[in-house]
Amino acid sequence: MKMGRIVSIGECMGELSETGSPGMLSMGFAGDTLNTAYYLRHGLGEDWQVDYVSAVGTDGLSDRMVEFLKSEGIGTSHVRRLPDKTIGLYYITLKDGERSFTYWRNDSAAKRLASDPEALNRALEGADLAYWSGITLAILSNQDRLALIEALGQFAGKGGTVVFDPNLRPRLWDNPETMRGWVHRAAAVSDLCLPSFEDEATWFGDADPAATAKRYQAEGARRVIVKNGSEDVTSAGSSGELSRFSVPSVEHVVDTTAAGDSFNAGYLAAELNGASIENAVAAAARLAGRVIGARGALVPDAVTQA
Ligand code: ADP
Repeated sequence: MKMGRIVSIGECMGELSETGSPGMLSMGFAGDTLNTAYYLRHGLGEDWQVDYVSAVGTDGLSDRMVEFLKSEGIGTSHVRRLPDKTIGLYYITLKDGERSFTYWRNDSAAKRLASDPEALNRALEGADLAYWSGITLAILSNQDRLALIEALGQFAGKGGTVVFDPNLRPRLWDNPETMRGWVHRAAAVSDLCLPSFEDEATWFGDADPAATAKRYQAEGARRVIVKNGSEDVTSAGSSGELSRFSVPSVEHVVDTTAAGDSFNAGYLAAELNGASIENAVAAAARLAGRVIGARGALVPDAVTQA
């Protein structure tokens, strides 16, 4: 089997949620690119290294996050430490089964994850695949967005595979137009784009998943796989050929958090292990189906059931 290294680039946050006992909160860690790194780590053999690329503070909370990543087998040697910053936090309130979020991320070190181009290049050096998202891009300054796109473009030019999930979050951007512009620039350096149709239809007005795939290919993405909740997955290959794959139905959807993130990891792990697109989509949908059958973004039971 092939030996390789994957880097996932983005922001991991502390997650505070209620335990059910008054006054007691539980603390976890999650974030779109971290969720994908977690499921990749569990989906690939030990001959694959999965590194997280981010920035945290030097405070105790940041230490706990780094310890958490290590304990999950995720490499932390490219998580930079910035003394004057900390990690972002969010608090989940559950009311009548609906989740709402309160965020503290102004002081998040991850906003500066691309502020040192040399560190970025060291992180990418020798990697086979770099994974990132529209959220990674959203939290950066314009200068750092350009630096990250340039670094990934060079990585792709040297034969690295760049995989991008647009993960559209207009609230993280100044306005939707700015978001659309940067997301298209990101797609242009990406070998594979993994958008979710509902978000794309809302913010780009795509009529159907094939239109989403065509738009990203027109922007320069070589291949596109469009997720669509319980509906078919649409894949557009490098010559523009379209295929559709059904996803297994999930009897009890408990919490759709990380559906797309785990799907992406399941897909990539299968493809890196040599699976066809059809089999990789099937593996991805099975994993995502298990993840949405339980509460939370990181579901240990979802990775132990093959
Ligand atoms: P995102 O979480 O990015 O919005 P989607 O909602 O499109 O992503 O879901 C990603 C994948 O998760 C789908 O392609 C599918 O495999 C699985 N999935 C999500 N929702 C459902 C559902 N209701 N029933 C079955 N599978 C689902």
